[in-house]
Amino acid sequence: MRILPFLAAALLLAPGAASAQQIFDSHVHLWDGEKSIGDYEAQVEDAGLTITGFGGMWFGGPNQALAGNPREIRARNDALLALAAKHPTMVPIATVHPYDGAAALDELQRVAGLGVKLLKIHPHTQKFDPVDPRVLALVRRAGDLGITVVMDNANIVPGGDSEKLFNLALAAPKTKFVFAHMGGLNFRFWNILKMARTAEGLFGDNIYFDISAMVTLAADAPIEEEFIWTMRNVGIDHILIGSDYPQFSLKQTLDALEKLDLTPAEKAKIRHGNARDLLELKP
Ligand SMILES: [Zn+2]
Repeated sequence: MRILPFLAAALLLAPGAASAQQIFDSHVHLWDGEKSIGDYEAQVEDAGLTITGFGGMWFGGPNQALAGNPREIRARNDALLALAAKHPTMVPIATVHPYDGAAALDELQRVAGLGVKLLKIHPHTQKFDPVDPRVLALVRRAGDLGITVVMDNANIVPGGDSEKLFNLALAAPKTKFVFAHMGGLNFRFWNILKMARTAEGLFGDNIYFDISAMVTLAADAPIEEEFIWTMRNVGIDHILIGSDYPQFSLKQTLDALEKLDLTPAEKAKIRHGNARDLLELKP
């Protein structure tokens, strides 16, 4: 019976230890607007997790944000900002379409004025080519406005997804990028960053990654060691965690991260510290 006080103490400590973990989920899709926020928050709570915040975007489902309809994109950005105003833990991730040209630049400027810090553009679902000069103009403007550009990098786009994104980031060194999914199953490409850092004046160290979806695939898989090696080569300080909700849950994502053979300090940076620094979140 002498073990009981010890058990009681352990049980008391456990919830404290869990809630002391800070988590920022950088990749949440709000396919159904406010309903999605409620469903997401309920799923997080049911898993016993507490988050400091999440990055919310429209992408996915019926919301493709194609070119030629800047007025609709503007209305969606306004709806997203209205949701963020109601949900203080949400960091809004706006969008525009690069091929809308001047209208896209104007919209970017407008949302920047409303406090937006993140722009997401998606070559695959929005059907644009990252080598198009309108994309470079847009991301350069984002850099001028202090907006970080999130781009899908699952390597679905044929003909050099990562290569195109790397060259875009080199051409816009003052813009910070988050490449979502860290190259998907072509993640090996990004080990190039370790070498790029040794080439004087080439690389502005402006590339970040989220490991959403990929981390669930890498954990307990034959690629796990290489995935961790890549994470360290691109820089642990440059990696964010994201769930890619609703395709993956935050719990599933964090459980996978926990399985990786990283140090507790590295995991803490990935769960929260790096997002806090990049997005200038409150501590
Ligand atoms: Zn996604």
